[in-house]
Amino acid sequence: MPELPETQTIAAILNKNLAGKNVLQVQISKDYKALPSTEIFIKAVTGKKIKSVKRVAKNILLELNNGVRILFHLAMTGRLLLWNEKVGSEKWVKIILHLDNGTKLTFSDMRMFGKAAVLSPKQTEELAARYGPEPLDKNTTPQQLFEKIKSKRTNIKNALLDQVVISGLGNIYATDALFLAKINPLTKTSEIAPEDTSRLLDAIREVLEESIKFGGSTLSDKMYVDPFGKEGTYQEHFKIYSKKNCPVCDGKVNFMKISGRGTYFCPACQPIISA
Ligand SMILES: [Zn+2]
Repeated sequence: MPELPETQTIAAILNKNLAGKNVLQVQISKDYKALPSTEIFIKAVTGKKIKSVKRVAKNILLELNNGVRILFHLAMTGRLLLWNEKVGSEKWVKIILHLDNGTKLTFSDMRMFGKAAVLSPKQTEELAARYGPEPLDKNTTPQQLFEKIKSKRTNIKNALLDQVVISGLGNIYATDALFLAKINPLTKTSEIAPEDTSRLLDAIREVLEESIKFGGSTLSDKMYVDPFGKEGTYQEHFKIYSKKNCPVCDGKVNFMKISGRGTYFCPACQPIISA
C-alpha cells in the first residue's frame, strides 16, 4: 500500500506536470462510483484548471481553480498514471482526466478499495483536521508525538499506524523507524518515555526522507509505480523490513503479525522495555 513517501512522490510528479493544465473531459467507468456521485464529480471537474497537486496524509489532492479539490486515495491497488500517445493501456482504469496538453491522467483500481472524490474547500479543511501531526513538517515536535502516543492504549507499532497519532505512516516505515529508534514494536504506549519519542521522530523522518529520495518502495507485487510507471528503490535500502538477519548485530530477525501486519524486529537491538 502506498505510504507517505510513495504518495509524496506521486503528488510531486503530478504537481510538476499538471499545474496549469485544463481538464477537457472526464470519463468514469460504468462499474465505478466517484464520490459524492459520478455526476457531481464530472460536473465539478470538467473544464477546470488544475492549480496544484498536494499530499495530505496518504491522500493526493488536485486543487482546481474553482476551489474544489479532487481527492484520490490509492488504498491497496490504486494507481495514478500520466499517459501520452506513446504509452500503452493500463488495466482496471476507473477514471480518465483528458488534459489540454494531449496527455491524460488515469486512476485505476483493481480491488476498488481506493477512493476518488470531489471536496469543497470546507471538506478539504475537515479532511486535514482528521489526521495527526505531519512527520515531515518542521513544526511537528517530539512532545506532540508523545502526547498522541500516550492517548492510545495499545503497543507502539499499532499506535504509529493510527493516522490520528501521526500522519502518513504505514507498515513498512513504522517497522523501519522502530528499528532505527531501537524500540521494540510490542512496547506498550504507557511505557514510552519522552526521550523515546524524540529518537522515534528522528527515525521516522530519516526513513521517510530516505525513501522519498529513492522514489518510494516497490514490493514484489509491483503494485506501486510513480505516474510515469517507474518503480521505487527504497526496498533495496530497508533497515529491517523483510530481512532475515539484523544489519547491526547479525542476529536472527523476529517476524510476527501485529494486528495482521507483518512486523520485523531484532530482539537484541530492540529489547522489550518492561516497567
Ligand atoms: Zn540486532
